[in-house]
Amino acid sequence: MKGNLFVISGPSGAGKGTICKAYMEKHPETYLSVSATTRKPREGEREGVSYYFLTEEEFRSLIAKDEFLEHAVYCGNYYGTPRNKVTEQLEAGRDVILEIESDGAMQVRSHFPEGIFIFVCPPSLDELERRLVGRGSESASEVAARLVKARSEFARAQKYNYILINDSVDAAVERLEAIIAAEKCYMPKNIEFIDKEFLK
Ligand code: ADP
Ligand code: 5GP
Repeated sequence: MKGNLFVISGPSGAGKGTICKAYMEKHPETYLSVSATTRKPREGEREGVSYYFLTEEEFRSLIAKDEFLEHAVYCGNYYGTPRNKVTEQLEAGRDVILEIESDGAMQVRSHFPEGIFIFVCPPSLDELERRLVGRGSESASEVAARLVKARSEFARAQKYNYILINDSVDAAVERLEAIIAAEKCYMPKNIEFIDKEFLK
């Protein structure tokens, strides 16, 4: 059986990265896709682990070669999901997680409707702002741009299959585990097993 593709999206500062990191610590069998970006590395970010950090020229050349499953411009920088690794892992039967913004999520949804789309939501707008400011990784003007962008992300929430309200990280990770476990039991994805084992 092929792996499931989980697309985790939602506004910057909602806690997507935190939830994915905690999930991966408990489930190293899952593949968390490493994106490419033209954004400058933050302190502590590592090439090939946090992102592949590219120049705009390198990024555009990969777009021209159709190397991205999806890509988008977010607050002035390119971000994209390398296609080959994701396809390879899914074919090998491994579940794959993409942690991406909503333009990219919608592109994946149009090519990959069988993906499972999860919207990570902060408990309130004030809390979103507190988290973005508290992270301390962007300037005040970048935080403001991300909050503006957040509005268009909330407006698309109904296009997702699941909402994950990130009140506490532990509770959000438990709910993510429940979603992923439930998707493994989804009958249309398992009917081949019934056919092969019991109806041949
Ligand atoms: P995103 O990946 O969605 O941009 P992050 O995972 O970087 O968001 O989280 C943004 C900030 O909020 C970080 O400083 C993180 O430690 C903090 N954070 C994440 N989840 C929670 C939570 N449930 N409660 C309080 N703070 C949180
Ligand atoms: P950050 O600069 O905070 O790391 O990421 C900014 C936004 O880009 C976040 O919402 C993050 O989820 C998103 N992002 C990260 N990688 C990708 C990607 O490969 N494609 C798209 N479309 N968005 C991404």
